[in-house]
Amino acid sequence: MVKERPINAMSVDVEDYFHVSAFRHSVVRQDWDKFPARVERNTDRLIRIFDRSSVKATFFVLGWVAEKYPNLVRRIADNGHEVACHGYSHALVYEQKNTTFLQETIRAKAVLEEQAQQPVIGYRAASWSVTSESLWALDILHEVGFQYDSSIFPVRRDIYGIPGSPRDIHQRPTNSGPLTEFPPATLPVFGRNLPVGGGGYFRLYPYAFTRAALRRTNQIGSCRFMFYVHPWEIDPEQPRLAAGIKSRFRHYLNLTRCEQRLCRLLGDFQFDTARNVLAELGYLSIHGKTSMVTSYDAAAREQQTMARTNRLRKTPDSLQAREGLRGDRG
Ligand SMILES: [Zn+2]
Repeated sequence: MVKERPINAMSVDVEDYFHVSAFRHSVVRQDWDKFPARVERNTDRLIRIFDRSSVKATFFVLGWVAEKYPNLVRRIADNGHEVACHGYSHALVYEQKNTTFLQETIRAKAVLEEQAQQPVIGYRAASWSVTSESLWALDILHEVGFQYDSSIFPVRRDIYGIPGSPRDIHQRPTNSGPLTEFPPATLPVFGRNLPVGGGGYFRLYPYAFTRAALRRTNQIGSCRFMFYVHPWEIDPEQPRLAAGIKSRFRHYLNLTRCEQRLCRLLGDFQFDTARNVLAELGYLSIHGKTSMVTSYDAAAREQQTMARTNRLRKTPDSLQAREGLRGDRG
């Protein structure tokens, strides 16, 4: 008897090469318009790659990109993929005030929903920047209508990660109800979680290692994993930017191999959108808070949410205390 393969989530963080956090000290936001843009063609290329393998994916789109290329979001949706939110300006959540985070999140969600003509229920923070210091962001995400988040990397890294966080799909309490968390794939090795679900790790490890690690993750826990890729990772011709040697190594490593590896991965595993995987596992409520935020009611929604969040949240780390995550700072 042939055993059915588990269906995993494929995701794309739709941003350009100059948005990446590794370059945030050498590239200022005011200059973004001066760089030659490549995100549209690279994302279209990913759509074609997925199409050839009949794979549907979740595209976490940066609000800034959506405003600049409104037809891109429409093409993603028209091709049957899920449109989700990667924030607005690629600012690290723990470096933002909650008021700014709220404003940017609502602005990005509204523009994405207007363009995609579908509710946007998934969120991923820039560079996995929901950490022990910024768990308050989950309250805001649930308040404004997101049903799931994919921003918490259960590892210890320099700019992201909550090492004690569950590596499997789980629910996190917020002030207004539970929010589903779908972390990127990790494999437990000698008591630590090894990141194996995409990005620089996919380009660093030999493909056979990634495949073996992901096959193993398909055998433990919920048996599903979240994979992620960026449009700039299949673009070896992108302009080179100045940064420290570590950042340049992480960003430019094996860009020539990424597309070929991705194509192999799409043949070796089953993939679908995060929304479909979570719905299949019973994590999403079809009749839940899936209302769209149009630009007309975005301002009103922002005021209401801020008032509610301030009223409910008397101490900034009440959620951390509730979850006993205080000792997890990486
Ligand atoms: Zn990003």
